[in-house]
Amino acid sequence: MVWGAIATWRMAHDGVVKALDLLERKQHSGDAVEELIKTVEDYPYYKSVGYGGLPNAEGILEMDAAFMDGDSFKIGAVAGITDVSNPISVARKLSDDKFNSFRVGEGATRYAMTEGFHRKNMLTERAHKIWEKRLKEIHENNLNPYNGHDTVGAITLDQMGSMTAGTSSSGLFMKKPGRVGDSPLSGSGFYVDSQIGGATATGLGEDLMKGCLSYEIVRLMGEGLSPQAACDKAVYEFHDKLTARYGKAGAFSLIAMNKAGEWGVATNVEFTFSVGNDKEAPQIFIANMGENHTTKIESITQEWLDAYEKRIKAPIE
Ligand code: ASP
Repeated sequence: MVWGAIATWRMAHDGVVKALDLLERKQHSGDAVEELIKTVEDYPYYKSVGYGGLPNAEGILEMDAAFMDGDSFKIGAVAGITDVSNPISVARKLSDDKFNSFRVGEGATRYAMTEGFHRKNMLTERAHKIWEKRLKEIHENNLNPYNGHDTVGAITLDQMGSMTAGTSSSGLFMKKPGRVGDSPLSGSGFYVDSQIGGATATGLGEDLMKGCLSYEIVRLMGEGLSPQAACDKAVYEFHDKLTARYGKAGAFSLIAMNKAGEWGVATNVEFTFSVGNDKEAPQIFIANMGENHTTKIESITQEWLDAYEKRIKAPIE
């Protein structure tokens, strides 16, 4: 039997390892995705997801998350949720509801509380310090505030042939209150059909939404393209379209896995991801845009990993 998991960014690796362990033991793809994403949400040094995530312009940590079941197409999502330790679990629970399955803001937080999800102040001292520092820098140097964002997006395939997609993000650092990215939006941030495959996105949500790239990649896989060919076609053609209209495209990266456990990625920035399946042990790769609508994918080096570890834990001056 085949199984597999793929997820965005180096931060997802420990979660991918856990998900693959569950999948090897014949657990459901939904449990695997939830476990994978919770692992990222719980780690305080990842500053773009869950606990330790960076806040909006007013210093409030608003989070977006979604869960989609590829057998039933059930979707649950939250946007701008606050003070809840695992937005992905709230999204998963909402996916069982026929109505009201996408909640925003206070309604989302209240739902989570009523359903007994763990209430937690998700803003760490470190994230607050980074926010204060950035506020100062923006005022002093007139900087673009919106860098420092990454979403954990994941797709899992289990031995029963079911697939699940999930996302979780604190969105853009310094976003305006109420701003929602692509991550909780079906078709933009994620999409999965167990009979074809799934895809998820990370990058500038405002641009990702313009292309509905996750849905497009699944659609292309449904037409017979491999996950890599589908990612290359969807991502680079859309990158070119945005560049033609705006002179440039926001940074974005997409990952995909099909029902055979084969995977692909495409990106217009330096992009790391983690992937494994029944044949390949979990591994972190680094991807870059190649020539002629292709993607260059290489194994990550120890040097890169060491520098990353140092960077995420560096003291905030
Ligand atoms: N897509 C996320 C957003 O726009 C951020 C990211 O993945 O970098 O909210």
